[in-house]
Amino acid sequence: MKLFPIIGQDDFLRRLHNLLNSARLGHSHLFTGPEGSGKDALALQFAAMLNCTGEGDKPCGECPACHQYRLLEHTALHLIFALPDKSKSSADSDPYKGFKESDMDDLRSAIADKAKNPYQPLQLPGANNIRISSIRKLRQDIYLSMNPGITKTVVIMETHKMNDAAFNALLKILEEPPERTVFILTTAYPDRIPTTILSRCQYYRIPPIAQVDLQEHLEKQFELPGPEAHVLARLSQGNVRQAEYYAADTERKWLDMLRQIVKVMLSKRYHDVQVLVKQLTDKSLAEETLQQILSVLILFLRDVEVGIREGGQMIWQEERDALVAWSPHFNAREAVNRVERCKDALNRKVYFPLALTRLFFELRQMARESQKEYQQ
Ligand SMILES: [Zn+2]
Repeated sequence: MKLFPIIGQDDFLRRLHNLLNSARLGHSHLFTGPEGSGKDALALQFAAMLNCTGEGDKPCGECPACHQYRLLEHTALHLIFALPDKSKSSADSDPYKGFKESDMDDLRSAIADKAKNPYQPLQLPGANNIRISSIRKLRQDIYLSMNPGITKTVVIMETHKMNDAAFNALLKILEEPPERTVFILTTAYPDRIPTTILSRCQYYRIPPIAQVDLQEHLEKQFELPGPEAHVLARLSQGNVRQAEYYAADTERKWLDMLRQIVKVMLSKRYHDVQVLVKQLTDKSLAEETLQQILSVLILFLRDVEVGIREGGQMIWQEERDALVAWSPHFNAREAVNRVERCKDALNRKVYFPLALTRLFFELRQMARESQKEYQQ
């Protein structure tokens, strides 16, 4: 079963089961994959599998070990993550030195949040690095003996956040790992990890979350209607954090704006382009939102190109039908190229109003020209 709310990734879960049952289970594993694909969630799930005492499929979700892992409170679970530096000395082996009671409260609630939603990074205020003191403390802890039958599980989240000294300390442990200990390192940036560490790990690439799984998650979790969840899942490209961020934004400015863009493409009045550009470059609109709107426009144009999606309505069915009726030979693929070019230009910090004005004139022109072709 899924001990944590893991979205999709059934193939990878199967792989973990095979790994658990294989005779050659290594002691160091690196889980890598794009942001928001579920590396930590899967690492924690795997850690729980290693100590589940239930019968049958592991983790069973019922045994005491599963309950403790579910809360990230099992004594054999060692979580390593970035901590703020509150101590004056770098030679400490107590990563919590200098922590006040309120810092400890922050820490406990960050871990509790991680247990509830392992897709959100475990982020403490002012914490940018995994500290060498955390690795020294780990060294002290994991060489202590534990009850027979228990596997010590070390989950290092965002492993790339270590500095050289911390990596070296970790390397020493991985070179002579204590008995019955499994290390699971997660990172979206394996190129920032020394090869000496990488060469000691079994390497697993976790794919982005499948669009259909992400859509289902948004429908359930945020009670979104199917067509809307479909668009957001596509927009997020398999990144659950991005998807949840979009879903939590109930204003849906992007949808309003998309509708206006299509209206302008079909409008006879030049002036409408200027009004639209003014709206899009309004100071209250974040640059990120503008990029999101253009990404939405690309999805819309792809739907124009491909036609009606199987199994239901599109969120912009009406707009799509209107564009196709107005301009039956509209070259949607070329339109996508133009929008992508404009997105690139915005990334290069060109003058936004000019780039957008040009884009919308081009799209409008394309819609009109293909209309003419049709009439001839
Ligand atoms: Zn269990």
